[in-house]
Amino acid sequence: MSPQPITAASEAVIARGRAVTPGGVNSPVRAFRAVGGTPRVIREASGPWLTDVDGQRYVDLVGSWGPMILGHTHPDVLAAVTRAAARGFSFGTPSENEVLLAEEIVSRVAPVEQVRLVSSGTEATMSALRLARGATGRDVVVKFAGCYHGHVDALLAEAGSGVATLALPGSAGVPASSAGETLVLPYNDVAALEAAFAERGGEIAAVITEASPGNMGVVPPAPGYTEALRRVTAAHGALLISDEVMTGFRCSPSGWYGLETGPQGAHPGGYAGGAPDLFTFGKVMGGGFPAAAFGGRADLMARLSPDGPVYQAGTLSGNPVATAAGLATLRGCDDDLYRRLQQTADTVSTAASEALTQQGVPHTVQRAGSMFSIFFREGPVTDYAAAQGQDTAAFGRFFHAMLDGGVHLPPSSFESWFVSGAHDEAAVQVILDALPAAARAAAS
Ligand code: PLP
Repeated sequence: MSPQPITAASEAVIARGRAVTPGGVNSPVRAFRAVGGTPRVIREASGPWLTDVDGQRYVDLVGSWGPMILGHTHPDVLAAVTRAAARGFSFGTPSENEVLLAEEIVSRVAPVEQVRLVSSGTEATMSALRLARGATGRDVVVKFAGCYHGHVDALLAEAGSGVATLALPGSAGVPASSAGETLVLPYNDVAALEAAFAERGGEIAAVITEASPGNMGVVPPAPGYTEALRRVTAAHGALLISDEVMTGFRCSPSGWYGLETGPQGAHPGGYAGGAPDLFTFGKVMGGGFPAAAFGGRADLMARLSPDGPVYQAGTLSGNPVATAAGLATLRGCDDDLYRRLQQTADTVSTAASEALTQQGVPHTVQRAGSMFSIFFREGPVTDYAAAQGQDTAAFGRFFHAMLDGGVHLPPSSFESWFVSGAHDEAAVQVILDALPAAARAAAS
């Protein structure tokens, strides 16, 4: 039996928070609505560890939903941030780190010739969409059910992440005109894509896809799927936007794009048919600070203001502290890190699967580089409908038993688990020790 969790201090903060903030949280999935119980209010984080306001420690497999690839409060990032902050918090005029961060991204992702820095993944996808519409003179955008691209009006329909976790069809407050310009298609379904383009190809500005979806749980592209996206969009003069906010610099030194085109040879779900026109980045490239980007071919990016007619701006875009954090983080993302991330993901995902198998819990583990998630149903899971068919109650029991065992998973079965370079043997052992009781709870 796990000890009863101590949550008095967390409960007190959440209760005070509810009085002044909707749901007591600043992003919905943090509220534990899908799993019940009290969200842990974190006081500090270091390496693979979170410490809550009750003084309890957890091995963190959320990683701030992706950015913390080096672990929390990494000394190199902390030093870079401290140095940058001492020189000023925001200038509102160009600074050198912006150029260095842009160069780092451009040097890693070959088809990206230029980037524009923004402050969140939502801003990145919103701006990429505007650029695609401005460049093509068309309004309609295609997205895939279960993919999440931030809380952009046009992209919230049948979205993943919190929208999936809370089982919402979309969001109130999105104008019908905006929703009407979004076509939502099932993921991994080439026939549905071809049919949509056959009917409305001339109106479609862009297809936006998560490079390898992680917001309905991890659902990699089927062999030939990404290639089909490229072929069909190109044939109809539409742009292809690859959203690498989650996968960027996480799946490989150059993200999913690099995994697909990397030394292991082309991924069967890869870009054999040619590179996307635009990419969006966030999470890892900000190292835990608000920095994100969108980018692509120079001729397309030239359409942005001040060079071109597509307006886009930001008071804090390219913030000197955020860019210092992002730069230090990317510089720490070397081949050795990715090797260790893979190893940790192998160990944890294999052990979780074995524990669940031992208890007879139907499940399937899916991977994209070191990103992985466990669906509480038999697999394979190739689209959102299949992801929705899992036993979310079993996940809730599993989640709480892991939390009781000192492991903080994402509080939703529609999210990827993230390991970091700081997950050492001691941290992994805590996870391995927690798994048998969690699997028993899932089975109960
Ligand atoms: N795109 C993807 C693939 C994401 O996973 C997310 C966030 O989870 C976003 C966009 C939005 O990023 P942000 O939360 O920084 O606005």
